[in-house]
Amino acid sequence: MAILDIDKIIIKRTIAGVNCRVCGGLLKETKKKSISGRIITAATMGILKTKQYECEICKRKYLLI
Ligand SMILES: [Zn+2]
Repeated sequence: MAILDIDKIIIKRTIAGVNCRVCGGLLKETKKKSISGRIITAATMGILKTKQYECEICKRKYLLI
């Protein structure tokens, strides 16, 4: 599977111990689905479920697959 290169989104495969790569802050799961998340879900026909996280401190968005 190709690695997805989407601006401002970092894809990690491990959920445990996810921290912001910029400031090290905790990531909180957000219910808001990003456009990128929808594209990935649609492109993989729902095989890949994405979870979106947001850094509590710097508000950077992360997408977990
Ligand atoms: Zn941060």
